[in-house]
Amino acid sequence: MDPYIYTDGSATEANKNAGAGVYSSLFQLSAPAGANATNFDGEVAAITLALGKITHAYAKNVVLLSDSRAALLAIASERRSTNARIFACRKSIECKREIVKALVMQWIPAHCGIPGNEEADRLARLGASQSQPLLPITMDMAKEMARSAITGSAEERSRGECGGKNWAALLDPKRRPPWTLPRAVSVACFRLATGHDYLRHHLKRIGVTESSDCDLCGVGEMTSDHIFACAAMVDLPTDGSYIGRAKLYWAVRNKMAEMPPLA
Ligand SMILES: [Zn+2]
Repeated sequence: MDPYIYTDGSATEANKNAGAGVYSSLFQLSAPAGANATNFDGEVAAITLALGKITHAYAKNVVLLSDSRAALLAIASERRSTNARIFACRKSIECKREIVKALVMQWIPAHCGIPGNEEADRLARLGASQSQPLLPITMDMAKEMARSAITGSAEERSRGECGGKNWAALLDPKRRPPWTLPRAVSVACFRLATGHDYLRHHLKRIGVTESSDCDLCGVGEMTSDHIFACAAMVDLPTDGSYIGRAKLYWAVRNKMAEMPPLA
């Protein structure tokens, strides 16, 4: 009989819903972990759910596989837990040890193509999409609810304060430079988008220099828009891509560094 049972938990981004998934070649289970449950709660719920399927008729050697170190450590720890779910899970393990020869809990890496883990993950997400029962709130859930509420209100306040600023573009994921860009390209694009670009206009604004005029061509204010039309940079046309814009930006910054020191 197949001794391996894969378990996984899943929580939605806003942590409003969580699910537990269990996969073995003999059975597949999917269940909601309760309103406001965290991903951790889902992981523990999945292990408890799997334990419930181990009966006298099941394999004598059982291996429970989870990709949550936190859940495995919390369950295996000898320290007393105030978390009712951990407590229930430990109780269940004690009962199962009486009917199986060996019960092993093993960590496995997540999302690296282990079929059982992928299936358990799918079942956990299915559980998270189901209607969530109201279960007693654990301390971890209360902490997560408080953290989520504080983060949410801080985000909302920051978004409000960005209104009308030139870096408001960064709030829109479609207009934001992708995270995968090389660091030098990312830094340049971020500076150009926010106006914190150390070009003359910005340097004047922060009191480093008295003039905001472009000292490369001598015509007009040196803003992030200006460098794309600057007469001194005509030999370096840009294609408008992130890499092209970054190349031009760093070329301008290098030219500025070669200029005599600011008075
Ligand atoms: Zn210029």
